[in-house]
Amino acid sequence: MKMSRLLMVVALATLFVVSAAFASPVQAVEPMMQDVRPGYGVTGIGWLSDYHPSLRGTPVDTRVYYLDSGVPGPTLFILGGTHSNETAGIMSATLFVERAVATKGRIIVVPYANQSGASYPDTQHPEIGFITINTASGERHFRYGDRRTNPAHQSPDPVKYVHYPTGVEFEGNESRNLDRAHPGKADGTLTQQLAYAYQQLILTEKVDVAFDLHEAGMMSRLANMVIANPKNLDYAVIAIVEMELQGIVMNVEHSDDQFPGLSHREWGDHTQAAAYLIETPNPGQGSEDVMNPDIVNHPVAPLALRVATHIATIDAVLEAHEMMDGQRTEWTGMPSYSELVKSGLGAYLR
Ligand SMILES: [Zn+2]
Repeated sequence: MKMSRLLMVVALATLFVVSAAFASPVQAVEPMMQDVRPGYGVTGIGWLSDYHPSLRGTPVDTRVYYLDSGVPGPTLFILGGTHSNETAGIMSATLFVERAVATKGRIIVVPYANQSGASYPDTQHPEIGFITINTASGERHFRYGDRRTNPAHQSPDPVKYVHYPTGVEFEGNESRNLDRAHPGKADGTLTQQLAYAYQQLILTEKVDVAFDLHEAGMMSRLANMVIANPKNLDYAVIAIVEMELQGIVMNVEHSDDQFPGLSHREWGDHTQAAAYLIETPNPGQGSEDVMNPDIVNHPVAPLALRVATHIATIDAVLEAHEMMDGQRTEWTGMPSYSELVKSGLGAYLR
């Protein structure tokens, strides 16, 4: 009797552990709302779950902003916040939503690519929490979130994360890294489903040129880098030469053949889009020994300079597309590189 009772407890405990390990990746937690104030150029607002309905009502669903000129031309996709601590990408995308008015083609913008990563503070610098920017409307606060999906929304991490569909293995916690999950999996983990939704967006909207905006440590090899899918590397090379003539120094490299799961690699390989990733130097990364690093007003890499670099790089790459393909997406309303550097980001946020 005692033995059978013990067996039952063991069986129940096993069942509990197994069901926890295979729990549905989609939790009943709704996405956070972020401070993004759409300007005159925004002609439509949707949800990422419009492209993958099983994300609806989950903590990774996020706003998609459409800026349609009504004039035929290429479709540009701008993704910020793949890593929620890489603030310049989020703020560059936000500035497009708040200021840009498309005059040729369409711009589709997602400022917060991984809302689950933005739902909790950066694990390396939890003391930052939010960044503050002074604008004409008063102080605005933007989450300084984490690089990965919140473990409260996707757990436990596997011992090894196996990328789909290549089978390449990464550390277990990389299972929550959106930029190791592309091209995604429709019935996969929350992070894999998130990547899948972006793949579907790019295919459904027939995106011509896609940018994934990132940051890296100040001393990282990747800081001030454009990474291009090999199929569209030439445009990036032309762009950085043009930028150098304007006094903006960027480097360029192509996607690594041995490193799957990254946006530029997978979007470029599996969709019609030319795919690029931009990195600027973030004082909050690679600085574990510094308490409360200044993300906004750092003397060497202020946020306005990093945002100006992202926007100038997007513009230069599109100029290269116009030179080689005969057309590009066009807009008005965005501050120039020198205006942003001189007046700061707060002067242009709504
Ligand atoms: Zn990143």
